Amino acid sequence: MAELSIRGVRKSFGETEVIRNVDLSVGNGEFVVFVGPSGCGKSTLLRMIAGLENVTSGTISIDGADVTHADPSKRGIAMVFQTYALYPHMTVEENMGFGLEMAGIPADERKRMVRRAAETLHLETYLARKPKQLSGGQRQRVAIGRAIVRDPKIFLFDEPLSNLDAELRVRMRIEIAKLHADLGATMIYVTHDQVEAMTLASRIVVLRDGRIEQVGTPLELYNNPDNQFVAGFIGSPK
Ligand code: ADP
Ligand code: MG
Repeated sequence: MAELSIRGVRKSFGETEVIRNVDLSVGNGEFVVFVGPSGCGKSTLLRMIAGLENVTSGTISIDGADVTHADPSKRGIAMVFQTYALYPHMTVEENMGFGLEMAGIPADERKRMVRRAAETLHLETYLARKPKQLSGGQRQRVAIGRAIVRDPKIFLFDEPLSNLDAELRVRMRIEIAKLHADLGATMIYVTHDQVEAMTLASRIVVLRDGRIEQVGTPLELYNNPDNQFVAGFIGSPK
């Protein structure tokens, strides 16, 4: 059974349809990368999976359960955004534990969960710092840490590295690949960086104008792009 199943999903903002009948199944532990031009609907699709945006029609299910209208906090999903959105007045530990606190998890258990996530991300020595005392890469790691502490089944990443410089992006890309291997969680990752897509993805979904243009492994898309548009996005010479 697909862990995540998207069936006939559409989304309109007013008169404009921005997601047009998307079907996609994502298996347990897969690393699926969404690519496509700016405005093609990548973020909207992720936000609907997370429950941050209503679907206009269609269904989304997780582990066979229909979650189309379920509260975001009940989906077992965590999302990491392009902008870190850390609370500037809170320490790293408080930032990472904030969601747990909102969920009513007691302080001692919170501490334990935050420490464990901090170890996974090599942030143990930064727990008492405020965001402004961290580098860009460390901040993005804290943002990922906030997602990890909840132990989600599915991670959604919306261009998480695009604000980092090139060198840091390469290092963080390797860390995200390691994280995927360590946690074995399902990950859906939006990027416009071809190298990130080719190296991280078990499958790449090419989106165009609110529709799926082609889905396949990086090699399938590279060797057999359906058209010029896909070839352009994957970097193959067709
Ligand atoms: P991407 O992430 O691929 O760049 P988005 O999902 O952000 O694309 O946007 C898809 C389309 O939906 C765009 O045309 C965008 O302008 C539009 N859109 C996104 N969010 C809203 C909103 N809240 N209200 C109206 N239009 C929106
Ligand atoms: Mg976007």
